[in-house]
Amino acid sequence: MFRNRKYVLDSSDLQYKLVKLHWKVRFLHFFLWFAVSVIVAVFYGTVFENIFGSPKEKMLSQQVENLKLQYSLIGRELDNSMTSLNSFRLSDDRRYRPILGMDSIPESYRKAGYGGVDRYRDLTGYVNSNLLISFRSKIDELKNRANIQNESFKSIAERSAEWKREMDHQPMISPVDVKYHLGDGFKFRAIHPVLGSARWHYGQDFEVPYGTEVYATGDGKIIESGWNSGGFGNYTVIDHGYGLQSTYGHLSDIKVVKNMNVKRGDLIGLSGSTGTSSGPHLHYQIEQFGEHKNPVNFFNNDISADEYNEMIQAFGSKSKFR
Ligand SMILES: [Zn+2]
Repeated sequence: MFRNRKYVLDSSDLQYKLVKLHWKVRFLHFFLWFAVSVIVAVFYGTVFENIFGSPKEKMLSQQVENLKLQYSLIGRELDNSMTSLNSFRLSDDRRYRPILGMDSIPESYRKAGYGGVDRYRDLTGYVNSNLLISFRSKIDELKNRANIQNESFKSIAERSAEWKREMDHQPMISPVDVKYHLGDGFKFRAIHPVLGSARWHYGQDFEVPYGTEVYATGDGKIIESGWNSGGFGNYTVIDHGYGLQSTYGHLSDIKVVKNMNVKRGDLIGLSGSTGTSSGPHLHYQIEQFGEHKNPVNFFNNDISADEYNEMIQAFGSKSKFR
């Protein structure tokens, strides 16, 4: 402790002499020195912390900034997901459901299951409670909407498969190549070409040469196949389900047997002139829930022969008969 050593000039021998300080004085000196050091250190420390923060505070505030950044990124992701879900909802409501004849899902149902005053009680009372609650409610809404959308798409897929099945079973095409002309239509005939008497013609005739290929006009099951004494001659009847049946008459050859399942485009027979017939032609008849319907309302003949044959080839490539 050099600072505590005091020297004085001794005028008697002109020499510096060490002044021996009393221990109390030396203690006081030490104490004052110590106190001042402490005060200075505390002062500078405080000023430094106020300006720059303590290292621990610095670390914490960095963490807080990171968390804020992450929160805003998650928030943006949530918003993006909500936008995607919304576009699913729109295609659901405006495209798939109307096409398939399904009702749209009410918005109240999509919104149900989240919200509520007490739902987020455990999140109240924190500094960031509002932020936490808004996040939680967004996540809950997203989960709920995603679940409902998932269910909706499942039911659309089921309905769509059912719809496709129904469409496949409709007798929707011409039973013969469209290059052939239509003969007598669905009408009351004053004079039957063979019987001569007046009667209804409950079908559509096709002017086809002997041996023309006759195709199933929709998926179904053969319920009649053989000779019809009522005038159809060699004939076959397909039950398409959905209340629909199609009959093919005056055939020269039948290619199917009773109880066989057929697909649209399958070759079921060859045309002829068997039964009550004045010449080779195909008699084609459709019944819906037991009522005769005009077959021309079921098929579209505005396609070219090439298109028709392409279509039959396409069906035929999947068929077991060809
Ligand atoms: Zn006829």
